[in-house]
Amino acid sequence: MEIILKVENLIKIYGNIHAVNDLSFTVQKGDIFGILGPNGSGKTTTLSIILGIVKQNSGNFKWFKNESNVLNNKKIGSLIEQPNFYPYLSLIDNLKIVAEIKGISNIKEEIDRVLKLVNLFERQKSKFNTLSLGMKQRLALAALLLGDPEILILDEPTNGLDPKGIAEVRAIILSEAKKGKTIILASHILDEVEKVCTHVAILQKGELIKQAKIDEMLNTKEVIVISCDEINALFDSLSESEICKKADKKENEIHVILENGFVPKDLNKYAFEKGFILTKFEVKKDSLEDQFLQIID
Ligand code: ADP
Ligand code: MG
Repeated sequence: MEIILKVENLIKIYGNIHAVNDLSFTVQKGDIFGILGPNGSGKTTTLSIILGIVKQNSGNFKWFKNESNVLNNKKIGSLIEQPNFYPYLSLIDNLKIVAEIKGISNIKEEIDRVLKLVNLFERQKSKFNTLSLGMKQRLALAALLLGDPEILILDEPTNGLDPKGIAEVRAIILSEAKKGKTIILASHILDEVEKVCTHVAILQKGELIKQAKIDEMLNTKEVIVISCDEINALFDSLSESEICKKADKKENEIHVILENGFVPKDLNKYAFEKGFILTKFEVKKDSLEDQFLQIID
């Protein structure tokens, strides 16, 4: 594993607000690292610090790729402060300005490449102010992708977009991720993090309250909902059984979490062998949403 970014004990205080409070995390090459938290939880502040836009009060961070000041050498593309596009210039002219600022040499090819990536090639001659909100956001992504940075930093990339716009932006992010890029994405939308990211750090009031791989988080709690006519007897039996870690009776259902090493089929077999005929057997994954809500409650 190659470490790309290491953040240690970051603290940022505004007046009496701890915007970021003792935050530590590590991002590895190829991660799509989600920073998930409600509004005001410190996401933008964190991204601003690691981009050198805001200075932390204490703690430190280190970019490992190309140590000679990665922030200046175009390895990172960030979408934290929206680029100021000129409303009456075409997309291509707007991108030329960004490309010149970035010091890109093969400007024509690069602009063609990124316009195709974000599916705006056909619109290259349109004026910026004729674009839909979704197109504007895609153009912002195109600007960020100029120079093909290895690391992308995205702050709420789908904010304000309609479902189609959201899907388009997510598709672009995922296609960049497939090229092996490392992406850090802040969002208050759980669904976004769940669909796009490989890792998540959940922030609340500037503090890291949970960090996990997305698939671990999605797999941690498998709940099996069962029912039968003699529900009380089944519940008593399960409570004493070795396959059941936790059983909750909810009206005429029992919600079961299995002990490690057991699979849902074992529960079905157990009930059958004890003489219970199940009238319901449903395996549910406790969604990241449930876990997120439990955490931030
Ligand atoms: P998020 O991006 O998760 O919505 P922010 O990082 O923007 O959260 O903000 C975290 C906290 O810090 C909030 O309480 C916010 O009001 C405060 N904050 C952010 N920037 C400033 C600033 N420049 N001056 C004062 N307070 C700020
Ligand atoms: Mg923010």
